[in-house]
Amino acid sequence: MSGASSGVRIGVDLGGTKLLAVAFGATGAVLAERRVETLSGSGADRIVERVAELVESLEVPRDRLEGVGVGFAGLVDHRTGHVDSSVILPGFDDYPLRARLEAQLGCRVVVDNDATAAGLGEHVASGRNQDELLLVLTVGTGIGGAIVHRGRILRGASNTSAEFGNMTIDWQGEPHSCGNRGCLNTFASGPAIVGEALRRTAAVGGLLAAREGRLPAGATLEAVAAAAADGDDACRQAIERGADALGTGIANLLNAFNPDRVALAGGVLGLPPWFLERVVATARGRAFGPNARAATIGACREPLLCGARGAAELTREVADGR
Ligand SMILES: [Zn+2]
Repeated sequence: MSGASSGVRIGVDLGGTKLLAVAFGATGAVLAERRVETLSGSGADRIVERVAELVESLEVPRDRLEGVGVGFAGLVDHRTGHVDSSVILPGFDDYPLRARLEAQLGCRVVVDNDATAAGLGEHVASGRNQDELLLVLTVGTGIGGAIVHRGRILRGASNTSAEFGNMTIDWQGEPHSCGNRGCLNTFASGPAIVGEALRRTAAVGGLLAAREGRLPAGATLEAVAAAAADGDDACRQAIERGADALGTGIANLLNAFNPDRVALAGGVLGLPPWFLERVVATARGRAFGPNARAATIGACREPLLCGARGAAELTREVADGR
């Protein structure tokens, strides 16, 4: 692993649903990519093996490999690569993810939060604008965030900045696993939208499942979107509610940060275009005027790739001690 300019960096996006590994060339070109299901219930050690298998399958010669970066869907210390916990990936509590991956792969590995990686990936994909204050929200199984200021991740006092999913939308709302109630996660994450659709359809099985926080097989965000497109009012209203909550959360961010740009990635971008349009309109309508006018709000440049691109970039970033 020399510092040769021809070096290849591998980025892994380790989420609750999908596991994506991408090899990037020195100029950022995608050389190879592989995607599989995470199988989040299979346990940490098995998932580590799957990550290693996926990385090996990219067939990057070891003498060209600069490092492997992993964006992990949970709380992780990027300096040590040690996982504190994950709501989305069970079995990773207090888990030495970097050490286990380095043992499997026999090369240098960097681990960071997946939304942090996505933020850095969006910064890179959009031309490394050093003057920009960029906020990224990843809205999928959970809602994560990143703050990129002048090309650097703003990590905060306890390395847990940009917990945008846990910001309060309704201070009297439903409890969330983070300990708060009424946070953005309870309204606009994929499971929250699906749960709301089930509540609104008032099907007994669906209602019980939604109350208990588990969803029957087949009830996916895609299914809710398809039903809404077919004229199902309950499903459409559930998506609208998610959009309104997300737009409200972004309005709060616009007021707090006055960013140049807010970029979104994650599973909710698979919803019909009116979802994002409604999010943007709500955010602009609620934010303080100058803040609303100053910000560009839209999808990430590479919504499916930014997590992996950022993870690869982290091999450079964290090596620099940032
Ligand atoms: Zn929360």
